[in-house]
Amino acid sequence: MDSYTDLEDGKGRPNEGYSDFISEAIAEDLKNGRYTYVRTRFPPEPNGWLHIGHAKAISVDFSMAAKFGGECNLRFDDTNPEKEDMSYVEAIKRDIKWLGYDWGDREYYASDYYEYLYEIAVKLIKKGVAYVDDLSEEEIRVYRGTAVEDKNNITYTPPGKDSPYRNRSVEENLDLFARMRAGEFPDGSKTLRAKIDMAHPNLVMRDPVMYRIRRIPHYRVGTQWCIYPMYDFQHPLSDAKEGITHSLCSLEYEIHRPLYEWFIQQAEVFPSRQIEFARLNISKTVLSKRYLLQLVKEGHVSGWDDPRMPTIAGLRRRGYTPEAIRDFMGRIGIAKTDSLVDIALLEHCLREDLNKRAQRVMVVLRPLKLIIDNWPENHVEYVEAINNPEDPAAGTRPVPFGKELWIEQDDFQKVPPPKYYRLYPGNAVRLRYGYIVTCTGYDTDPVTGEVTAVHCTYDPATRGGNAEDNRKVKGTIHWVSVAHAKPISVRLYDYLFLVDRPMDVPPGGSFLDNLNPKSLEVIPTAYAEPFLENAQVEDKFQFERLGYFVRDPDVVDGKPVFNRSVGLKDSWSKIEKKLQSGS
Ligand code: ATP
Ligand code: MG
Repeated sequence: MDSYTDLEDGKGRPNEGYSDFISEAIAEDLKNGRYTYVRTRFPPEPNGWLHIGHAKAISVDFSMAAKFGGECNLRFDDTNPEKEDMSYVEAIKRDIKWLGYDWGDREYYASDYYEYLYEIAVKLIKKGVAYVDDLSEEEIRVYRGTAVEDKNNITYTPPGKDSPYRNRSVEENLDLFARMRAGEFPDGSKTLRAKIDMAHPNLVMRDPVMYRIRRIPHYRVGTQWCIYPMYDFQHPLSDAKEGITHSLCSLEYEIHRPLYEWFIQQAEVFPSRQIEFARLNISKTVLSKRYLLQLVKEGHVSGWDDPRMPTIAGLRRRGYTPEAIRDFMGRIGIAKTDSLVDIALLEHCLREDLNKRAQRVMVVLRPLKLIIDNWPENHVEYVEAINNPEDPAAGTRPVPFGKELWIEQDDFQKVPPPKYYRLYPGNAVRLRYGYIVTCTGYDTDPVTGEVTAVHCTYDPATRGGNAEDNRKVKGTIHWVSVAHAKPISVRLYDYLFLVDRPMDVPPGGSFLDNLNPKSLEVIPTAYAEPFLENAQVEDKFQFERLGYFVRDPDVVDGKPVFNRSVGLKDSWSKIEKKLQSGS
């Protein structure tokens, strides 16, 4: 894999993997003189935290601009005051920065364009292509009509019905629209609509609403306005105002493109061009702010940054790195049609990244005491452990080794199942970086019969990890010295949903029915080697044999919390092989 040097340029990796239809379209536009420069924008609505689908859009927007020496604006599409909030603006900015993209001073707000948008609306009224309607929003919907299926299952859209107010005079429309702004009419009693074609085969073109009356204070402009522009009107004109050349958006906006172009043409403004690409969908995941908000509000997760959430903040807390996420974006590329990406690929990208950089440590999650009977009382030795086998420069560290060690409960069996190479009476294993020990017996609780301690003897000649000794044993297990162990708390995560497509539910069902009731397992006390004591929040580790873990900000009962980011076993390679062989 190549290096991440381009990350530092703050604009995106020009080679984030994109050689694709969007680049081709942009190159063509530059060649034939449609545009002389390239400017894109990322337009989040501040009504939720960013998720990995947004990271895809961010990656496309910034990378395309960088690829053509252009720039990318960050524009908050904040024209729907009901759900928007400054806290979301802050969260969005923090997450984009963390991903490694830099918009510089190109930070814009659609709410700064309200006056400009109003003037354009007036211009359209004067041209006779916009009118004030008294129909209710519900009536407008009914008049517009819907697609129906004929006897042969062919869908078509019968013409809609003109509003009785459609032919108001320009003067009357100007007067009514000014009075809408002035607050003379109650909420929902009037709208401003574009006058296009109520029989248009594309429902989006049937006199779409441009403004509605809503007395809701806006988080930035307060109560200055009681009319708010609709997305379809606001978006193309905001693009035009910023001189955006290529307005890249997800596929669901494709049917809105004729309207995008209609507004630009009628308003006679800078001709921004909309190009759509496929939305990112990931298996076992929901990527829609509305549903993520529901998970948060109903307490199915601990918050927007719960490590099970596909939000950028959740992934970050889970231990994802910007590099892993950007590597993932490069690998999936840009497509024109929607598809479902296996979550195993995302995990694979994280594993690849952490494998290179994560410090190795030993931690015992489910402790069982191992007693070395022939070890001198109170004697402690320090064995040398490798910090990162992938990075010799990371060096080694001393790890205390003593008479009593914690090992994993499942590294011992009274009676070994077939192919079990770990500890059982009579068998020898290597204690990683330490000695080879042979199991001599075990203690049990007289009441429950549970194993309370395992006994063994060690061979003093086998210290370290020499290859010849290792040939004598088939298993190596990790351990932590009881006298030196640091208690930590561990959270093990599984997928939040049980099925690949959580939104596919039978009629009357809910995506919540697909929630995995066992997506979080808490281990209140695990034992770590002393090295982990100095871990800072967001520091990443490989707990040997257990997976990659990250230090969480939480401390519970005085114990620092570590989240499992991802296990060690990679299921992606297998899936990839299967995909390549086409089976
Ligand atoms: P949601 O459906 O989750 O509410 P949204 O599209 O309404 O998402 P916005 O804040 O409006 O949320 O999105 C900002 C940009 O991110 C838009 O250009 C949108 O197309 C893009 N985007 C959102 N989700 C995805 C996704 N899953 N894949 C790619 N791009 C996405
Ligand atoms: Mg949107």
